[in-house]
Amino acid sequence: MMGKGGEDYGKQEVSSSKMSAPEVFPAWGREVQECEKHYGVSRRSGLSSSDVEKRRKIYGLNELENHEGPSIWSLILEQFQDTLVRILLVAAVISFVLAWYDGEEGGETEITAFVEPLVIFLILIVNAIVGVWQENNAEKALEALKEIQSEQAAVIRNNKRIPNLPAKELVPGDIVELKVGDKVPADMRVVELISSTLRLEQGSLTGESEAVNKTNKAVPEDADIQGKRCMVFAGTTVVNGNCICLVTQTGMETEIGKVHTQIHVASQSEEDTPLKKKLNEFGEALTMIIGVVCALVWLINVKYFLDWEYVDGWPSNFKFSFEKCTYYFEIAVALAVAAIPEGLPAVITTCLALGTRKMAQKNALVRKLPSVETLGCTTVICSDKTGTLTTNQMAVAKLVAMGSRAGALRHFRVDGTTYSPFDGKIHDWPCGRMDANLQMIAKISAVCNDAGVAQSEHKYVANGMPTEAALKVLVEKMGPPAVDDDRSFSSSGDLLRCCQRWNENDRRIATLEFDRDRKSMGVIVNSHSGKKSLLVKGAVENLLERSNSIQLLDGSVVALGDNSRSLILQALHEMSSDALRCLGFAYKDELPDFATYDGDENHPAHGLLLNPANYSSIERNLTFVGLVGLRDPPRTEVRQAIEDCRAAGIRVMVITGDNKNTAEAICHEIGVFGPNEDIRSKSLTGKEFMELRDQKAYLRQNGGLLFSRAEPRHKQEIVRLLKEDGEVVAMTGDGVNDAPALKLADIGIAMGIAGTEVAKEASDMVLADDNFSTIVAAVGEGRSIYNNMKAFIRFISLHSWSLWSVTDGI
Ligand code: ATP
Repeated sequence: MMGKGGEDYGKQEVSSSKMSAPEVFPAWGREVQECEKHYGVSRRSGLSSSDVEKRRKIYGLNELENHEGPSIWSLILEQFQDTLVRILLVAAVISFVLAWYDGEEGGETEITAFVEPLVIFLILIVNAIVGVWQENNAEKALEALKEIQSEQAAVIRNNKRIPNLPAKELVPGDIVELKVGDKVPADMRVVELISSTLRLEQGSLTGESEAVNKTNKAVPEDADIQGKRCMVFAGTTVVNGNCICLVTQTGMETEIGKVHTQIHVASQSEEDTPLKKKLNEFGEALTMIIGVVCALVWLINVKYFLDWEYVDGWPSNFKFSFEKCTYYFEIAVALAVAAIPEGLPAVITTCLALGTRKMAQKNALVRKLPSVETLGCTTVICSDKTGTLTTNQMAVAKLVAMGSRAGALRHFRVDGTTYSPFDGKIHDWPCGRMDANLQMIAKISAVCNDAGVAQSEHKYVANGMPTEAALKVLVEKMGPPAVDDDRSFSSSGDLLRCCQRWNENDRRIATLEFDRDRKSMGVIVNSHSGKKSLLVKGAVENLLERSNSIQLLDGSVVALGDNSRSLILQALHEMSSDALRCLGFAYKDELPDFATYDGDENHPAHGLLLNPANYSSIERNLTFVGLVGLRDPPRTEVRQAIEDCRAAGIRVMVITGDNKNTAEAICHEIGVFGPNEDIRSKSLTGKEFMELRDQKAYLRQNGGLLFSRAEPRHKQEIVRLLKEDGEVVAMTGDGVNDAPALKLADIGIAMGIAGTEVAKEASDMVLADDNFSTIVAAVGEGRSIYNNMKAFIRFISLHSWSLWSVTDGI
């Protein structure tokens, strides 16, 4: 069963796709080394380019089959399945027969008699051509969207990490890194857990309502899909943790591929969009009315072709004029033809499909056609702050450390606005070795951090969270852990060499992932001396609440008194009022539960880490060490976009996880609030809003509103209340737990760059550039499409009725 360095592995797997009884290597039942051997790969170096080439030839691309679209004939036939079009066809045939009959009667056929049926046939042909063309185009536009949204994967090949390889290029044996929020690109065996826990949402495949924990330990070979705890499946999403995996199945061989085949077989016929359904219903009702009115028109005119002869006041005989009868029948038919808005459904769908293309050019990728129409009706936009209203180009601007005694703080100004460690310096920085307090700040910044900085074409870019990348840059500006490190550094070309040294000194054994409810992230580290400690960074208020001591300049620890607390809060207030995004640092050395823990899954402490609900209790009784303020400048184009919203009567609400003062300062800067506007009644924290008695009245206020320190559940509540009040709400989001709010909103908008796959899946629109102005441009586009469609429907109705009044007079 085992392959030799991937050689016969290929043949065996080929058989799985080509032969009737596929023999699949049970990776879930084998240990990691055995899997690596079978797939001829090592998790450190990944596959080589030649291996990839060979395997691609055998397995093809990692994508689900594109089932053949409808043929041109079936598309043409489809155009005649519309009630209105069918009636028009019947009308044309009748007109044609009548014209023919008239000709026969008169002895010679008048060519003018055929003009009407010919025109109708011409309309039908043009309509069918437009229909086929637009369906092809809409199909292509949607395909293009699928392309743009296709997932990417971080892959290790040829000893190098490729951060964004298109997922369709994966082959069995590839080594893939997964992190929280990622959508799994293929079926894979977990080979290594980077965080202490790994949880996946795989309900779409298995029906499980809760996220499940994954491990890298083998399970019995006969395990069912739920039991394969060391496997992750394509199409599912990581809700917590990071890991390294080995691709075992790709494309149609994956579990989701099998489901895809079943779905395709079951659902050959595609459902109409709700908008199209409504239009069809409207068409049918209209046709009924037209039919009845036409019949009435014909009957009213009966007297002209049916002459009664009366004897003693009673009708005794009648004279029937067939010529006149057909003449009035023709008029009724002409009336019907004039009144049927035959092209309406086609025009509407064309408008929407073209709209999505225009919006895609403006970086707004609409995932569902009818959303274009909903966008046009948007009355409230609820937007995130970080990255959407601001650039997310973070740089530390201020550092506040503890002083030599309780009640004294040290403030440092930090220069530089880019991710370059060489851009700017720290003012008044002490010479020589850093004191214990500054060392602790540097250590937490470097180790409790998942980001990196890379140099690409003379530019320094952040890999991972911009906030964390900015902290790594700060550590480099602070200098190496020990003075003598300086000498060994001179030969090192590493960009983040100080960070690297901190990470070598303190090895991470567990990660308590950042989440938006707790607003902090922690890591448990093992130092050289074997001592365990917990390093935490997060929102300053949250950390202060969980701290009971502070560390002084010399490393000594004293109780956190009221005086120190208010001094720290004052520093926080000053920085946040200056629109700086603030982050605090804390640690703890007493970790009795983890004293002997070394990442072992069978250790009792591991159980604690499996449930993220325990994280805030682990991060308690901390020692606070300092805080930083990061500059995140507003996007320049946002101010104008907000003004445009105001002019168009759309209200803007900012819902952010950030601190109240920082958010207020940014909102003033970008014009959500006027420069001197009293915003006491317009800015609340998420918690304060939830405690309000009349939340709806608060939401009905004119102008912009701000919700700071908001949690994902607050977003859901705000959308729910706004919708109940009849507003059409567009809501942005990027995190996994934003998904319910995105689903609930009339238009859920996910961030293309910073957004997780879960958020994108739940959304109606994806912003390719994460920019607020793009939302406003898309709403503007939606409005003009909506207005055009309304105008067209009105025109059609007026057109029909005016023709009616004219023919009525005949
Ligand atoms: P928005 O909700 O508008 O995107 P935001 O990014 O400030 O704004 P969150 O991401 O919810 O909101 O972050 C909330 C707070 O959590 C931040 O103000 C910061 O103090 C803290 N924080 C952010 N990122 C991290 C991180 N990587 N590690 C620890 N704490 C963080």
